[in-house]
Amino acid sequence: MAFYRSLLIRNSRSSSWFSKSTTSFSYYLRRSLCHDASSTSSDVSAKSYHLSGGPSYMRGAVFWEPNKPLTIEDFHMPRPKAGELLIKTKACGVCHSDLHVMKGELPFSSPCVVGHEITGEVVEHGPLTDPKTIKRLPVGAHVVGAFIMPCGNCFFCSKGQDDLCESFFAYNRAKGTLYDGETRLFLRNSGKPVYMYSMGGLAEYCVVPEHALSALPDSLPYTESAILGCAVFTAYGAMAHAAQVRPGDAIAVIGIGGVGSSCLQIARAFGASEIIAVDVQDEKLQNAKIFGATHTINARHEDAVAKIREITGGMGVDVAVEALGKPQTFLQCTQSVRDGGKAVMIGLTLSGAKGEVDINHLVRRQIKVIGSYGARARHDLPKLIKLAESGIFNLTATVSRKCKFEEAGKAYQDLDKGSIVGRAVVEMM
Ligand SMILES: [Zn+2]
Ligand SMILES: [Zn+2]
Repeated sequence: MAFYRSLLIRNSRSSSWFSKSTTSFSYYLRRSLCHDASSTSSDVSAKSYHLSGGPSYMRGAVFWEPNKPLTIEDFHMPRPKAGELLIKTKACGVCHSDLHVMKGELPFSSPCVVGHEITGEVVEHGPLTDPKTIKRLPVGAHVVGAFIMPCGNCFFCSKGQDDLCESFFAYNRAKGTLYDGETRLFLRNSGKPVYMYSMGGLAEYCVVPEHALSALPDSLPYTESAILGCAVFTAYGAMAHAAQVRPGDAIAVIGIGGVGSSCLQIARAFGASEIIAVDVQDEKLQNAKIFGATHTINARHEDAVAKIREITGGMGVDVAVEALGKPQTFLQCTQSVRDGGKAVMIGLTLSGAKGEVDINHLVRRQIKVIGSYGARARHDLPKLIKLAESGIFNLTATVSRKCKFEEAGKAYQDLDKGSIVGRAVVEMM
């Protein structure tokens, strides 16, 4: 217990998401880990590992249970297995999905390392990794990781639908592991396993399946490029696959955070003519204009649906995107589209929450309600990198805050309060 205490106090600093309390620590550890049948075999493989010449352990931010602060813990250096790479994390974005897990709104295995929007440097390849992957992503390569980490060979991956990868959902989202059913994260002191939300990116190193990674050119910075792996990735999937935006389309985006503002930029890149930003914060709406919004609506002061119809000459937009995950904005999204238009839902919400829709309007006016989650890593991530490299997508303007690893908890608190205007990114370097 003395070890835990010194560790927590050393790492706690000022943020209240990082705990100074040690009272229930060992209880959470026991309670959360006892049910994991795979821990014994994994334990053994993780113990004696030492990265050749490098450190044998690392730090990671651990979520223990809902509404309790993250703590920074020491881990054994994670080991990549076949088809996986060990990445020295350089930056990790602060995303609402992590926050949903941390608030208990999205159930996830715990304890776990959160963070799923990373850039980093390739440190090692797992054994038996395809030589093509080693050539594509050699040791020392700068990389960006997509939060949906496709296995590459399930039913959906074999059809190129990486965004529906069965292994990702069955193992990572359902169990907090990689695709052999085991985590790569083990606490340094006890050897106990800790689960991974995607790659568990809020740590000094992370293990990522090869198909989730793309090489980052030297011209793109680590910090700003981290958002390519979730915020921009999600926006691209919504615009390219779900909405299939065409030049000249009228688009409305409801909720202008990191993902929503990325949707505006992608819509602009795809040639949308009217781009309408809807939010309740003037500061976010002001920023929306930088990202391509041609019109802004503060839904606190105006009826968003009526205003969207007014802007589009009574028609409604070709595509409306809901990036908040609230029942009220879900309904607004379906009401904002023209006849035959597409209402694209990308905001996650409380597990089990329901959205309403006017059935007759949907049927008669052929409204399409489309769910969209992330994008297709192997196909789309290289394209996003090109959009960023050419300046068509402005990464720098989207990242509104940079913070240190120890300040990550505070960044999540501020995200919860709505006080992060664009995207916060944790710099791990
Ligand atoms: Zn995310
Ligand atoms: Zn798959």
